[in-house]
Amino acid sequence: MDKYQKLSLLSENMDVEDGENLTNSLTNCPSRTTIEKHPMITYAKMSGGKTIPLLKSVITSICERNCNYCAFRAGRDFRRASFTPTEMAGTYLDLYQKNIAKGLFLSSGIAGGSVKIQDKIIDTAEILRTKKNYQGYLHLKIMPGAEYDQIEKLMLWADRVSINLEAPNPERLSFLAPKKMFGEELFSRLEWVDMIRNRENPRKNWKHRWPSLTTQLVVGPSGENDLEILKTSEFLLSNFHLSRIYYMTFSPVEGTPFENLPAENPMRGHRLYQASFLMRDYGFTFEDLLFNENGRLPLENDPKQNWAESHLRGNPVEINKASREELLRIPGIGPKRVELIANYRQKQKIKSESDLRILGIPIEKVSDFLLLDGKQPFHQLQFTF
Ligand code: SF4
Repeated sequence: MDKYQKLSLLSENMDVEDGENLTNSLTNCPSRTTIEKHPMITYAKMSGGKTIPLLKSVITSICERNCNYCAFRAGRDFRRASFTPTEMAGTYLDLYQKNIAKGLFLSSGIAGGSVKIQDKIIDTAEILRTKKNYQGYLHLKIMPGAEYDQIEKLMLWADRVSINLEAPNPERLSFLAPKKMFGEELFSRLEWVDMIRNRENPRKNWKHRWPSLTTQLVVGPSGENDLEILKTSEFLLSNFHLSRIYYMTFSPVEGTPFENLPAENPMRGHRLYQASFLMRDYGFTFEDLLFNENGRLPLENDPKQNWAESHLRGNPVEINKASREELLRIPGIGPKRVELIANYRQKQKIKSESDLRILGIPIEKVSDFLLLDGKQPFHQLQFTF
């Protein structure tokens, strides 16, 4: 088996891992032929908005754990493979130099214990950064139960690190992943990353800035509700300063104990992301979110619209006087538009619908929730026959 065949085997089933904002759009991407030739490459949107071809791979697809949803679980019948750190670094670098991949997301199954596998991920990164002078993007996975010193070493070379919490609490995790320990192996490692970022000098990192931190929760099969997920999410965002939480809506994998469970509705994941962004960027707290009697976010409307319907309808906000926090609560207004409003207000009052159009504010979204110099914006309803 040549190194590319091995890489294809290792990269199979990587859809169980969300790494970055993955995009299906082919804008700014190489040709479709390149995509078809290299199915192990996904297209990831970086935080600055740039899209890069990202190699998502594991260093080994052998795993001694038995997470019930996972394609790599022990005992599942499929062809497995492993790379040494030198092989992994060399194969990736080859793709990088041919412009096929411009970033690496490296995870692993657990074979021979977490500590041993974590060392292999660290070694791969160290080879790339120190021996090969690689300057590109590296997202490195923290293994469940990795040691403190290993996490510190990993953080020297990474742009982003992550460890998957998988579930919002220990009870749900025991259903998903019977051998993973919520507090001792996962939650504590998220805490350590943040601790290292606070205590240690960022100049130790190859770019002189500590890597961002993310996690992933599996949504659906453990019967958890959105209330549990978002309560944990709020804690993680505010206490461990996660850049993002990925909500992987469950899809059954053949040959696993969950193969006959139904796939989760992707709209549920979408609403969870919206609620999570409200808590991360819009000043919302967990208490602001509206849940139905089952502890789920309603699927029909986005969570910000639901909040505005119950708090601002009949009680609109004056756009010329509202604070940043108040403006961020209005559907159709995000952080960028708040800046535009603030700049505009310094020069003149916002009085008319045409002022809103200049600011790029969608009148149909905001008309029920704000006032323009004391008057409600006029919004022409569209009728279709
Ligand atoms: S530890 Fe669990 S989730 Fe990770 S690769 Fe092994 S079986 Fe999959």
